Amino acid sequence: MKHLIIGGVAGGATTAARIRRNDEKAEIIMFEKGPYISYANCGLPYYIGDVIKDRAKLFVQTPETFGTRFNMEIRTKSEVIAIDPEKHQVTVRNEQGEEYTESYDKLLLSPGAGPVKPPLPGIDSEGIFTMRNVDDTDRIKEYVTSHPIRRAVVVGAGFIGLEMAENLHATGAQVAIVEMADQVMAPIDFSMAGLVHQHLYQKNIALHLNQAVKGFVPLKGPDPAIRVELADGSQIVADIVILSIGVRPETSLAKKAGLKIGKAGGIYVNEFLQTSKSDIYAVGDAIEYPHPVSGEPWLNYLAGPANRQGRIVADNMVFGNKIKYEGSIGTSIAKVFDMTVASTGLPGKKLKQLGLPYLTSTTHSNSHAGYYPNALQMSTKITFHPETGRLYGGQIVGYEGVDKRIDLLAQIVKKNGTVYDLITLEHAYAPPYSSAKDPVAIAGYVASNILSGKMKPLYWRKMQKADSAQVFKLDVRTAEENALGTIEGAVNIPVDALRNRLEEIPRDKPLYVFCAVGLRGYLASNILVQNGFKDVYNLSGGYKTYEAAAESEYGSIPITPAFSSQYDDSGDPSDKNRSTPIRSSASSISASVLKIDATGLQCPGPIMKIKHTIDAMEPGEQMEIQATDPGFARDVQAWCQTTGNILVEQSDSKGIFRAVVEKKQKQELSAASAPSGGKGKTLIMFSDDLDKALATFVLANGAAATGEKVSIFFTFWGLNVIKKVKKPKTRKDIFGKMFGMMLPSHSGALKLSKMNMFGMGPRMMRHIMKLRGIDSLEDLRTQAIENGVEFIACQMSMDVMGVKKEELIDHATIGGVASYMNRAVQADVNLFI
Ligand SMILES: Cc1cc2nc3c(=O)[nH]c(=O)nc-3n(C[C@H](O)[C@H](O)[C@H](O)COP(=O)(O)OP(=O)(O)OC[C@H]3O[C@@H](n4cnc5c(N)ncnc54)[C@H](O)[C@@H]3O)c2cc1C
Repeated sequence: MKHLIIGGVAGGATTAARIRRNDEKAEIIMFEKGPYISYANCGLPYYIGDVIKDRAKLFVQTPETFGTRFNMEIRTKSEVIAIDPEKHQVTVRNEQGEEYTESYDKLLLSPGAGPVKPPLPGIDSEGIFTMRNVDDTDRIKEYVTSHPIRRAVVVGAGFIGLEMAENLHATGAQVAIVEMADQVMAPIDFSMAGLVHQHLYQKNIALHLNQAVKGFVPLKGPDPAIRVELADGSQIVADIVILSIGVRPETSLAKKAGLKIGKAGGIYVNEFLQTSKSDIYAVGDAIEYPHPVSGEPWLNYLAGPANRQGRIVADNMVFGNKIKYEGSIGTSIAKVFDMTVASTGLPGKKLKQLGLPYLTSTTHSNSHAGYYPNALQMSTKITFHPETGRLYGGQIVGYEGVDKRIDLLAQIVKKNGTVYDLITLEHAYAPPYSSAKDPVAIAGYVASNILSGKMKPLYWRKMQKADSAQVFKLDVRTAEENALGTIEGAVNIPVDALRNRLEEIPRDKPLYVFCAVGLRGYLASNILVQNGFKDVYNLSGGYKTYEAAAESEYGSIPITPAFSSQYDDSGDPSDKNRSTPIRSSASSISASVLKIDATGLQCPGPIMKIKHTIDAMEPGEQMEIQATDPGFARDVQAWCQTTGNILVEQSDSKGIFRAVVEKKQKQELSAASAPSGGKGKTLIMFSDDLDKALATFVLANGAAATGEKVSIFFTFWGLNVIKKVKKPKTRKDIFGKMFGMMLPSHSGALKLSKMNMFGMGPRMMRHIMKLRGIDSLEDLRTQAIENGVEFIACQMSMDVMGVKKEELIDHATIGGVASYMNRAVQADVNLFI
């Protein structure tokens, strides 16, 4: 029997080796158009980043060793250019350009997939590369070695694109990723991708989502550069561009030979991996095959399935069609900087596209017991049938232990299991490896609570769109967590206080409950339901999922300012890992820094630890805290800004966040609260525009910090800036009620004076301020109170507008024009805003 194999890497080499193991007498010839066979495509990006240093390690076999071991002929640099199924022969073009034919009894196609390279202007310019094989890798390696690469652009944010981004970053380049979709990593849902966006941002990767590349312009200069032009008119200048837009199954040969091409665009094969011509088989990236869950044919570009298919097809080619291929559910995993991102089966977005009914559950657990050092957070989302609980798929984003959990989920999906099977799975457990309740089991428990109706899930999009007038948003986290950021319009009643504060919660509205990750929300919803509240929902994945997804939604993850869109020569190539550490103050680290371990604690644990430690410290003393909660990096910045303590240094590595905080000096406190040394300042807050209110409090705080006596007179619309969120019931006449209905009910509902865009503007403004570490309006207002700024509410305006004293924050005093004038005559600055 004579077997010809087209393609000498994953599928082809596996098939050839197995044929030999099945039949010692068979004649086998393997054609490979490139110079290498059986190499590690999956390791190529790591060679660019010098993680794999020895190029020789990329080659699992050479043509010589493989040919000798398996007694077969390996013809490299030999491209099969035609197949004649009737004559059972192929035409081959060798290195010299000569063409010849070779006959076969059985033929295998494993030609893989080719990179997509759209016909964009300038796409063939110097410095623009695709990455698919060893030759591509050698070209990129040579280029990064011989050119100063300070800025790199990766087009496409699939797993190869992200791996390339990480490895180029490791060479010292600043990296920007341009992606046409609204998220990275297409196989996972948007809410999970949000966590990856946050991580990339922390690593100083500039993410341009929802952005198409329009073209490339080569730039002249001492070192060649490329201007990447984006569809929105913006530009990025880079020293190298990697195109990782996607791949297409290599079907040209099959098409020419008249083989059937399937619905998804891959070579059609039956369950024996046989093409439409009986003596021709095909495997790997080039074929399409029905997805075991959806039944729909799909293209799956993964090495595991290619190898598995190679083994099956070799048996069928030698012994006749006996073994059926069961199909692949696309289980994949990728390292994205310190993160691991993995998925299996069908995500929510695909199920939606297919019109299949489904539910999801998102849980956040520790990779191992929280009390054992360095437990790292892991976020798990599963999709399942709303009645039977059949598990459709799973996605995990985390730092450690993601691989073993995704494999467990994959087994259940592939064996048509349900979420209940996740509960019955047995896990090996000891504190360094897992928890007695493994993250996979927790995902199963939560899903079974959803299915039994014990918990009504609420998904982040619904929460985001919810109108606070129609639903009651209840934040059951602690006041400290709430102060670090919450959902607009939410009322904070910590879960432990809930039983005593039930009368504050309306019974005539749906209750949208949330906590940090979902657990306390679930406990709170139980308390509420058992106290007679009917319509209670718990936010799946809690504020952590909401924040990550909502942030990405606005598309406003800031582009790192260090990577200017202009051609800028100032980048420092030695500045390899700019996110680690960031020095954020002029203070230096003292030798006697107190070390605190907050690893394994979830928000607000690390922040509470800082607070308790700082309370016991003397001014000027420093503490170093380590935490594994990914939100910690931003929380500590916000906390220091709010409290006035000094963030001396911050860094992160492999999922562990470290911060050095110095306790503020007493005189800073006293300076802020000192009695007026100057003549004083007054501000009239007439407007209730968010931007003007921000400006007012910034000015007031600035003045108060210099020791000035500051008074703000809130009049007419300005009263809305100091209204309480949760107001007691008050008696109002018809006009008071009308004003109450028409005006913003509290500072969280203020509009922008410009670009309000039906409420989008203020949300964006608040979001961007938060990302940039700028205090929110409410924080600035609290600081003003702490700084001793006087708030006077205008009695006359209150009477006109039917505003009652109880509706205003407690710090406000009521006064008339005389109160204001009394201060104004003494002040040397009086502002009307
Ligand atoms: C950079 C990179 C990283 C990856 N990382 C991962 C990963 O981490 N995990 C994972 O599961 N998968 C990964 N993959 C995908 C994985 O490598 C592929 O799914 C797998 O190699 C597919 O095997 P294949 O045999 O179908 O194609 P390939 O392994 O691509 O082999 C096809 C071969 O056929 C040759 N060929 C094509 N046409 C002809 C012809 N007419 N005549 C002769 N020869 C021909 C090509 O030159 C090529 O060498 C990665 C791929 C790349 C490029």
